[in-house]
Amino acid sequence: MTAKTARISYTRPSITELEVAYATDAAATGWGEHCYDYIVRFEDGFRKHLGVGHAIATSSCTGAMHMGLAALGIGEGDEVILADTNWIATAAPVVHLGATPVFVDILPDSWCIDPADAERHITPKTKAIIATHIYGNLCDMDRLLDIGHRHGIPVIEDAAEAIGSVWHGRRAGSMGIFGTFSFHGTKTLTTGEGGMFVTSDDALFEKVLTSSNHGRARNQKKQFWPDDIGFKYKMSNIQAALGCGQLERIEGLIARKREILASYADKLKAYQSISLNPENAGTVNGAWMPTAVFERDMGITREMLQQAFSAANIDARVFFHPLTSLPMFSEKRDNRHAWDIPERAINLPSYHDMTEDEIGRVTDVIVGLIDSRAAGEPPLAKSA
Ligand SMILES: *Cc1c(COP(=O)(O)O)cnc(C)c1O
Repeated sequence: MTAKTARISYTRPSITELEVAYATDAAATGWGEHCYDYIVRFEDGFRKHLGVGHAIATSSCTGAMHMGLAALGIGEGDEVILADTNWIATAAPVVHLGATPVFVDILPDSWCIDPADAERHITPKTKAIIATHIYGNLCDMDRLLDIGHRHGIPVIEDAAEAIGSVWHGRRAGSMGIFGTFSFHGTKTLTTGEGGMFVTSDDALFEKVLTSSNHGRARNQKKQFWPDDIGFKYKMSNIQAALGCGQLERIEGLIARKREILASYADKLKAYQSISLNPENAGTVNGAWMPTAVFERDMGITREMLQQAFSAANIDARVFFHPLTSLPMFSEKRDNRHAWDIPERAINLPSYHDMTEDEIGRVTDVIVGLIDSRAAGEPPLAKSA
């Protein structure tokens, strides 16, 4: 395969000899009394990286969210407000607990939850607001925390996509009552599958710690004695070993993701009608997923973008469908931006060892599409 046609993947982890050495060590020696060594080390390192009181490693972000919502007492008859633009993983635990997800619109510039729309949807049944930092972009945490404070409703952060993102000096995931992270193979820091529950609330930490161990409190002296029905969403020591290696490299991993987004921005800077992930004053965007949104009058659609990228052997992905467009929820088209933006947007590939040539191949597809539209050609004429 020539460099011109070699497949460009969407994301791919950066695994070095360090991670391999730690995982090998965990596989060879991390048993018996050592079976939690890497887990404890990973949790401790992550807690320090984020600047929070407590961290509990989990098998997924979904599991961390499920346990956190349950620990807040959310269940039957309750409502949880979240953005319509979200991965299903944020909504599924709400449904599993018997509560109702209330989907609100996003802001057109950050693609994150619209605080005013969130506030409009508060009812006596509202038990939490989930702020998902989409693609690394930050939710307006000052406004959300203020709304939560005024209404006595906890704000939760789904920071699965936001390692490396910072809101006015505070890291994404560290500002809400609790935060959740994902270490799925597509994420900036990976353990294959995995996640983290973080909080600075001591009581909530104890509750989740107990529930994460099948309801067995850590001070319970009786063996095999759960005091409650809990969960089993634990991370293995081998996965945590990978995580320890990744965490030692975290600043570099984030920096490279940011460089790739910056390179896209530079190569597309002549096109004012394309918006990439924003980075507002006082914030840092962890740049997990570079995403391009095209102004409607450019006439460039998701389908044209998918075809053009596919023809160029580039794995670009669609912007999240609004969750209210899925069959299990009721349609809510008045979430105007959440329904509109995905029709004219695309996720661009980003992985640590991506080359400048590869980034250029991606932006060439976009420029080619714009040129062919300007020349009135059918969208695929250029890529033939
Ligand atoms: C990846 C992701 C999740 C799910 O993470 P898992 O570890 O697969 O459970 C949740 N929320 C968002 C916003 C994500 O991007």
